[in-house]
Amino acid sequence: MSGRSPAGPAADPALDIWRTLPIAQQPTWSEHPHYAKSVSELGSRPPLVFAGEVDVLRERLAEAAQGRAFLLQGGDCAETFDGATADKISARVKTILQMAVVLTYGASMPVIKMGRMAGQFAKPRSSNDETRDGVTLPAFRGDIVNGYEFTPESRAHDPRRMVEAYNTSSATLNLIRAFTQGGFADLRSVHSWNAGFMANPAHTAYEQLAGEIDRAVRFMDACGADFEALKRTEFFASHEALLLDYERALTRTDSRTELPYDTSGHFLWIGERTRQLDGAHVDFLSRVRNPIGVKLGPTTSPEDALALIDKLDPNREPGRLTFITRMGAKNIREKLPNLVEKVTASGAQVLWVTDPMHGNTVTSENGYKTRKFDDVMDEVRGFFEVHDSLGTYPGGLHVEMTGDDVAECLGGADPIRQEQFDDLYESVCDPRLNHKQSLEMAFLVSGALAK
Ligand code: PEP
Ligand code: MN
Repeated sequence: MSGRSPAGPAADPALDIWRTLPIAQQPTWSEHPHYAKSVSELGSRPPLVFAGEVDVLRERLAEAAQGRAFLLQGGDCAETFDGATADKISARVKTILQMAVVLTYGASMPVIKMGRMAGQFAKPRSSNDETRDGVTLPAFRGDIVNGYEFTPESRAHDPRRMVEAYNTSSATLNLIRAFTQGGFADLRSVHSWNAGFMANPAHTAYEQLAGEIDRAVRFMDACGADFEALKRTEFFASHEALLLDYERALTRTDSRTELPYDTSGHFLWIGERTRQLDGAHVDFLSRVRNPIGVKLGPTTSPEDALALIDKLDPNREPGRLTFITRMGAKNIREKLPNLVEKVTASGAQVLWVTDPMHGNTVTSENGYKTRKFDDVMDEVRGFFEVHDSLGTYPGGLHVEMTGDDVAECLGGADPIRQEQFDDLYESVCDPRLNHKQSLEMAFLVSGALAK
């Protein structure tokens, strides 16, 4: 970053207006003996990301909003403290890099790589409580709020977890930066990213593509091309800005611009359950300079979307606002066209991204929260069809995925069956695409983009 951020949270009183507004989905911990200390400790820690990087991302997203780049955003539904191991983080980063290579090569278009990583610890819940065998306890709201274990101690809301979330995010980001800047992401290593993954149609297709890239790279090498640009890759961190105590404490004034940046991540989004126009989340995020996303479900009216644009992007700044639609495969072809049409007619240039996961959640016969790979794919196809028919640009893909060989979503070319859930279901929240399913999806989207 050019410019230093002064220590401590930004002082602007407007950044606290959210405290006077209705706020959904927050922990009940303001009376906790460690609340004030945890918030002030967070406020004195260094920023996780730098304002200059956030500005670069806004420029990249502006390119995508104008049809010249594509956003790939992926990661866990909920990161966990225990899950922040080198193996799991590297597998996830590797998978995102592989998906990005497939997309870049297929579509001949820059791909903006972004993790739901290094901060995705807070979860909204449809119910405050969970009952098991007649015992009722507070619902699990993510490791930043309480523990997954079903005991009264673990489920109590504890603000000290915010500091642990910060520390875990910091370690995660450090590893991501090392991987993507330290040679691991060198495009000449495309083959090695596949190592350790089993034979599968998606992997075979990937190996073929990696071979083509190798030949292209050797050809350029023979021509004396400069490979500096292939050695490193940009990788951005994002999460749902759900816990405003955490987001506010990490908001700093950038000394270059004198403007507030939420330094907990490069890109922050507002969830489907907290996008109320007069609510705290929309107000707070309207006041920070980061690029902002909003999840839009099937009940979103065009008026809602236009009002969100007025609030979050009053200056119609390209790259500032991303709409992440999560309509469900059954709804997308019916609900999306009207939204896109009205937003486009208003002159706003938002980036349209599909989240084909959250509108397609079902419960398997054996009681697991799951998604059918075919439904997920169908929503992606619907997203491309709608944008094709309107002449607008389908600018990105937002998925819950992991680099591990889990069994959480049903189907795929090497089909996952519900009988595998007992052994291989790991998510503490929503089901994720496993490594093969993620690659398979990248090939599908790459085909649609290349058209
Ligand atoms: C999520 O992204 O994990 C999530 C809860 O999504 P949504 O806000 O779209 O329901
Ligand atoms: Mn989720």
